[in-house]
Amino acid sequence: MVDGTSLHSSAFDAVLARAGRLAARVAGLDGVALLAPLMLEEFAGRIAVVSSFGTEAAVMLALVAEVDPTVPVIFVDTGKLFGETRRYRDQLTARLGLTDVRTVKPLSAETEAADHDGLLFHRDADACCYIRKVLPFERSLAGFDAWISGRKRFHGAGRAGIPVIEADRGWVKINPLADWSRARILQEFDGRGLPPHPLVAEGFLSIGCMPCSSRVAPGEDIRSGRWAGKDKAECGIHRPANAVSSIA
Ligand code: SF4
Repeated sequence: MVDGTSLHSSAFDAVLARAGRLAARVAGLDGVALLAPLMLEEFAGRIAVVSSFGTEAAVMLALVAEVDPTVPVIFVDTGKLFGETRRYRDQLTARLGLTDVRTVKPLSAETEAADHDGLLFHRDADACCYIRKVLPFERSLAGFDAWISGRKRFHGAGRAGIPVIEADRGWVKINPLADWSRARILQEFDGRGLPPHPLVAEGFLSIGCMPCSSRVAPGEDIRSGRWAGKDKAECGIHRPANAVSSIA
C-alpha cells in the first residue's frame, strides 16, 4: 500500500519534484484547461478522482467528465452515509456520463474487529474515520500515480492555504478548485444545469456520514456541520499539505 508514513524518502522526494515541475507546467491554467494535460498526458491511465458526491462535488465531476468521462472516480462508502448521497452518486453518474465510478468500502473484518456495535464514531471518531475512510481510500489508490480532489480554500481552516498541485504520500495530488470561490461554484452549477444534492434543501451545506453531519444555520461556515461539537475537522484522507507550490 502506498503510504507516505512508510514511503522511502527518496521516493517521496521524486513525487515532490514531479509535483513542482507540474505546478510550473500548468501555472495560469484553470478548470478543463488545467485538468486536460494532467489527465490525458502526464498521468494518462494513472490518475483517479476521489469524490464524496457531496454538496459541491458535481462541479469537479463535470469538469473531469468534460475531459474524460472514463477516468476512475473513487467513492468511499463508509457504511454510514445518507441514502440520499448514494442516490445522488447514481444521478450524477448518469447525468455526466461517468463510466468508471468505483464504490469502495471498509473491510468487514476491520469494522467487526474495531466497531462491532457500529458506534465507534461516538467513542473515537478518528479511529472510525481511519477504518471506514482512510484505509479503503488508500487501498483504492494503489496503482495510481495521482489523484484529484475537490477541496477549496474558501472552506477555511486547514484548507485555507492548499496549493493546486502538491505531493501527498506516494501520489501527486491535484486540487483544481483550490482557488474557486463559493460564488463561482454556484455559478457553475447554474451554468451547467447541475442538480443539487437533495439534502441541500434541508439545510446541509457539507455532507459526509450521517452521524457526523449536521444542518448549518445561515451565515455559518460551510463545514461547521461536520463533526460538530468535536475537535475534528477532517477525516484523515486529506493530510496536512506538503505543498511544493501554488499556481493561484
Ligand atoms: S465521518 Fe463519522 S461515521 Fe463517518 S467514518 Fe468518520 S467518524 Fe465514522
